Amino acid sequence: MWSANSFQRKVIEYYRQHGRKHLPWQGTKDPYRIWLSEIMLQQTQVATVIPYYEAFLERFPTIVDLAEASSDEVMHLWSGLGYYSRARNLHKAAKTVAEEYAGTFPQDPEEIEALPGIGLSTAGAIAAFAFDKPTAILDGNVKRVLARCYGIEGWAGKSAVLKALWAKAEENTPVKDTAQYNQAMMDLGAVICTRTKPKCDKCPLAKECFALKQGMISELPGKKPKKARPKRSVYWLVCIEDNQVLLHKRPPSGIWGGLWCFPEIEQSEPIPEHSQKLSSFVHKFSHYDLEVQPLLVKKLSKTGIMEPNETERFALAFLNKKTQAKTAQIGLPTPVSKLLASLQ
Ligand code: SF4
Repeated sequence: MWSANSFQRKVIEYYRQHGRKHLPWQGTKDPYRIWLSEIMLQQTQVATVIPYYEAFLERFPTIVDLAEASSDEVMHLWSGLGYYSRARNLHKAAKTVAEEYAGTFPQDPEEIEALPGIGLSTAGAIAAFAFDKPTAILDGNVKRVLARCYGIEGWAGKSAVLKALWAKAEENTPVKDTAQYNQAMMDLGAVICTRTKPKCDKCPLAKECFALKQGMISELPGKKPKKARPKRSVYWLVCIEDNQVLLHKRPPSGIWGGLWCFPEIEQSEPIPEHSQKLSSFVHKFSHYDLEVQPLLVKKLSKTGIMEPNETERFALAFLNKKTQAKTAQIGLPTPVSKLLASLQ
């Protein structure tokens, strides 16, 4: 088994020769840009993130611009990227930096971690990349590399497993060249030590890797214990009058918080009178399935299911993503955008 020193050396050497160095958020020391990329990259592929990252920065070039934006506009620019609590927290954290730090991103890892939506690993990444602090990171990619290299078994959602992974991450993180090392570990996990079919023949850690030697690659890292996926069944009430559609803004927290959706009722409720069923579909969230039956209804006010101040009518053309210039500056979840497109 290698020492922390030789592990670091192999990882950094790999990065210098093969690492990704031209992603839009690389080569900057701006903590705002680094933070934005780290948040967007959570659970999301690089190729998906790039256009969102660029559009976001074009509209909000500084953290103060983001702090001053309306929540509808922030959600609009995030629409389609998913995991919307990331956008809500990003907006909240920008306001905190603007108000409490006069618009200058804090440098201390503990202060960074105290901002909304920033966990220990993201704080470590920002502190290392923007401020050259010797802070460790432990995102999903790094967890996979460490679990396989060192044979750390069990699901990282269990505190003992997470503790063992953090201990290895900290032990291996160098004081010098921390940013390069952290970037290298993220790259290794994303490009070489992938979830399925890792490219062990190209891996600088293959010689000592526990999982490779023991034939345990598919078992490491340990998976989350499976539970039956819950399902929720709802009606979406599609009310169109004079080419305008009625949408309802969801409460600020929870699923699709702050985004505009069709008014929704549980399928256990009686179906509204004179409604017509449109094609149903299932939308998968990370922790449950949402079965949606859209219903074309005539007059929504008669159902009495919502507060008038939470709903608004939008011209259908105004909501069409293809007519970019006219698109409303509001956040729409992907299934809502798709259903709207099918109505036009
Ligand atoms: S040898 Fe294979 S399993 Fe082990 S760290 Fe490298 S890519 Fe991952």
